[in-house]
Formats: sequence, C-alpha cells, structure tokens
Amino acid sequence: MKKVDYIIVGLGIGGLVFSKTLRDKGKTFLLFDGAVQGATKASGGVLNPTVLKRFTAAWNSVEFISKAVPFYSSLAKDLGQDVLRPTAIHRILSSVEEQNNWMVASDKEVLSRFLSPEILKNNNTAIDAPFGLGAVQEAKTMKPFALLQRYQAFLKQQHQFVQETFEHELLELTAEGVQYKDIVATKIVFAEGAGVAHNPYFTIDVSPKGKNVFVGNKGEYIIVKAPALQSEAIIKGPVMIIPLGDDLYKVGASYGRDDFSLHTTQEACKSISDKLKKMISCDFELVDQVAAIRPTVKDRKPLIGCIQKEKTFSFLNGLGTRGLTMAPQLAAHLFNYLEEDIPIPEIMDIKRFVH
Ligand SMILES: Cc1cc2nc3c(=O)[nH]c(=O)nc-3n(C[C@H](O)[C@H](O)[C@H](O)COP(=O)(O)OP(=O)(O)OC[C@H]3O[C@@H](n4cnc5c(N)ncnc54)[C@H](O)[C@@H]3O)c2cc1C
Repeated sequence: MKKVDYIIVGLGIGGLVFSKTLRDKGKTFLLFDGAVQGATKASGGVLNPTVLKRFTAAWNSVEFISKAVPFYSSLAKDLGQDVLRPTAIHRILSSVEEQNNWMVASDKEVLSRFLSPEILKNNNTAIDAPFGLGAVQEAKTMKPFALLQRYQAFLKQQHQFVQETFEHELLELTAEGVQYKDIVATKIVFAEGAGVAHNPYFTIDVSPKGKNVFVGNKGEYIIVKAPALQSEAIIKGPVMIIPLGDDLYKVGASYGRDDFSLHTTQEACKSISDKLKKMISCDFELVDQVAAIRPTVKDRKPLIGCIQKEKTFSFLNGLGTRGLTMAPQLAAHLFNYLEEDIPIPEIMDIKRFVH
C-alpha cells in the first residue's frame, strides 16, 4: 500500500499548480492524468491582464498576476527552464473613436498600469491597422503544451505521476481519507477541467440550485504559416494572432456553447480565417487546428473547495477563459482552506451553489 497526503486527478494547469503548491509545502501526492485533450494543452498560453474587447481590466487581474508571476518563476527554477516570456500585445484600433476610448481607458486606475497611453503607428505592411495599435504592458505568454509535457516528465522522475484515467467508482472512503486501488490518501483534489461533468462526486450539478453550474465552452484555434507576417507581438483584432516561432501563428479562438465534442469544425476554421483576413493582408497557409472545452461556470467565476463539510473531496475547477493567470492564486486559496482552515473567498467557493 502506498500512502500519500493527496491524490490529484488531472494534469492541466489546475493540477500542475496545485501539485507544485503541495511540493512547496512539503506534502506528498500522486497525480493521475488520462491524457484527454484538456483546455490547457489547446490554450493560447496568454496571460493578459486586460479585456481588449471593452478596454477594461480582467476580473481580479492585479491579485492574480501578482501571484502568478513569482509562482511561474519558481516553477521555472524547479524545471530548469523558462516558463513565462514577456510578450507585447498590440490591439488594432479600428476608428478615431476607439483611439479616444483607448486613451481614456489608459488613464484609469488599475488600467494605467496595463495599457500604454501612447498609440503606436503600425509599421508592418502585412497588418491592416490604419488607426494604429494600443499596446498592453505586463502581458506574458507560456507554451502550455510543452510545459505540461516537461512537468509530466519531472513528476515521473519523482514517481509522482500515474498515466491513467481515474475510475471514480473504484474510490473508497476510509476512516483516514480515501483509498484508490493500492493507494491511500488523506485527501483527493479533482482538477479535471471539463471532465468534471463525468465525476459522480460533483453532486452540485444535480441539486435543484446547482443545475447546470458547469456550462463549458468549446474553443478552437487554427495554426497558420504566414512567412510575410513577421510579428513578434500578439496582434488582437476580431481574433488573436499569437506568434509561435518559425513563421507559425495560433489564431482564434472561437467560443461555442452547444457542441461539447473535441472535434475541430469547418465552421470555426472558416469563421477564424475570415476574421484573420480582415486583420492581415499577407498570404497564410492552414497547418493545423485544435479544439478543447474551457471549464466555464454559469456565473463565470472559479469553482474551488468542498461540496461537503468534510474536506476529503475537493475541486479545483471553473478556471474559465483565463485559467493560466488565475490558477496559482486559486491553488493557494484551496490549499489554505484544506490545511489551515482559511475560508475561500465566497465568490469562488463551490459552496455558493450548495443549498
Ligand atoms: C482554445 C482555448 C484557448 C484558451 N486560451 C487561453 C489563454 O490564452 N490564456 C488563459 O489563461 N486561458 C486560456 N484558455 C483557458 C484555459 O485553457 C483553462 O482555463 C485552463 O487550461 C483549465 O485548466 P484545467 O486544469 O482546469 O483543465 P484542463 O486543462 O482541461 O485539464 C484537465 C485534465 O484532467 C484530466 N482528466 C479529466 N478527467 C480525468 C480522469 N477521470 N482521470 C484522469 N485524468 C482526467 C484531463 O486529461 C486533462 O488533462 C483557453 C482555453 C481554450 C479551450
């Protein structure tokens, strides 16, 4: 029998940051992942503190960014490789009115830190931006797919990773916590992203108040090769163009509420390509397309903590559209609750749906 403090289910960004939090605090764990196409692997890898559709700050952005940056630096030390890279985001301004709105927004409290007041002249002939570009400060990017692969290898070296689908029906409750096959643990944390919909312990979605708490949102990106584009900055217009290196760009993403399959669709490909053509004038070639489900919640806030009074089973979910920025702070809240009984802020506590 193997004994650990925690079992974690899911190696997306949620499981990654929670397991690192445990290691940093001297706790033992085993992490299971079934290698489903999770949101983290498909994500754009952008840590953007602003909402560029409306020129506002993202919810809690200062708190989340302040935690995320040192957390990922520490992760980089653990892994012996960089995790975050400072990256410029240039928002295409589409009219004089948008230029004015940008300048007003850049003067506001909180936003003045993130939006440069100077409107940049567009010098790239491949980009259509006659009204110039607004620059976001303090944005970062990561390569989520490579990061998960590297982290998985790191966990394997420490014998902390089990590459298999976790079968909830084999989990048993014991006097000390839980038992799963030949593993006993004091607590279990489900960080399954959209997979939570198949978790029988996620009982809030069947209670009358909690019906359809977890809504999910399908996102697709296309990957294009565009040698003439030559942009190192992320370009934001109707879609986001994220440079990947070697003339490749990730472009998107789509938002879909009805289809929860992991298949890529012709519709998303066409819609993203059409929007891209409005932003750039150079040729591009489609090389790939990816799809995944964002773990979104009906009130658009995270879903962390325990459904029951006991702390044996907990959830780290609802990371939504900005999980990469939020995850380190959410993991800290969950850990502090489980180990030190510090309440989780009500707005993100799963208990808000338990009545
Ligand atoms: C197209 C797209 C673009 C995005 N772009 C960005 C972005 O640029 N910036 C940003 O901050 N956020 C972005 N997001 C959102 C972000 O990806 C998510 O908020 C975040 O990745 C969710 O992480 P997670 O760990 O909760 O879930 P996931 O990443 O989905 O991970 C869940 C893991 O659990 C595993 N799992 C599930 N059930 C089981 C089981 N029974 N047994 C074993 N393993 C199991 C799965 O295999 C999976 O690996 C994007 C999302 C999408 C879909």
